[in-house]
Amino acid sequence: MSLTDRAWLRALLERHGFTFSKAMGQNFLVNPSVCPRMAELGGAAPGVGVLEIGPGIGVLTAELARRADRVVCIELDPRLPPILAETLAGFDNVEIVLGDVMEVDLAALLAEHFAGMPVVVCANLPYYITTPILMRLLESRLPIEAITVMVQKEAAARLCAAPGERECGAISAAIAYYAEPRVLFGVSAGSFMPAPKVDSAVIRLDLRQTPPVFPADEHRMFALVRGAFAQRRKTALNALSSATGIGKEKLAEAFAAAGVDPTVRAERLTLAQFAALSDAVGEQAGENGGKG
Ligand code: SAM
Repeated sequence: MSLTDRAWLRALLERHGFTFSKAMGQNFLVNPSVCPRMAELGGAAPGVGVLEIGPGIGVLTAELARRADRVVCIELDPRLPPILAETLAGFDNVEIVLGDVMEVDLAALLAEHFAGMPVVVCANLPYYITTPILMRLLESRLPIEAITVMVQKEAAARLCAAPGERECGAISAAIAYYAEPRVLFGVSAGSFMPAPKVDSAVIRLDLRQTPPVFPADEHRMFALVRGAFAQRRKTALNALSSATGIGKEKLAEAFAAAGVDPTVRAERLTLAQFAALSDAVGEQAGENGGKG
């Protein structure tokens, strides 16, 4: 059997009375070249543990299990484990955890299944929660080396954008703080069943051992990032003044102290400049606790 054979897949799903759930972002891969490539480029290899989110019927899972020592999958839909028991019957290194990736205790899960192993995440994500999943994985500071995921093509451009690029937004800055992102390859809508309305792309985030900047207060820096991008047509200074309620003159002093041009827009600002601005604003408010 080939898990990407459309006729075979249709028959399998019909036999199990399975119908696709749009609400759960169910578009299954049926292009045979995509999953082996994702597994290879995602770092599935001997000695490695892989966490997959949303295995579906296991088309990517099988490629991961062929290459890695152990694969643990978190799947929300209770209708899928019986199908996976059939499609993955030939593997003894796969475990399916039924649950919501936004609620599962990921740190405990990794400790339980992957103790002492390097861990990577590899998944064809449900697109309705792409950003929350990525931010949960990154902000939890899990012992993960890399995250390789399929996302919408436009999301891939935003997630991997560098300062100065048109697609750059608050999410690009957040990703760049935790990881080094890159787009690996594009995937056409026709590679899925059912075909979504949008094309997709596979991205890889290599998690940083240490952050690229050290603001005195990470939360304040990200609040400024969100504020500056909230009105991206305005200059960063004007957008930040509306977002924070800090007067423009006072903010202009913070920009000067941070050495940042007050006429630039948010997308031109680097993480180092956001960190410097955050520290200058904190300094004005007497909140840096001696740092910054
Ligand atoms: N990996 C399969 C493939 O490539 O064909 C399926 C990918 S499909 C785009 C997304 C998968 O994520 C589905 O299996 C869906 O049921 C599952 N899913 C949706 N929301 C989830 C959640 N909150 N937690 C875990 N899995 C979820």
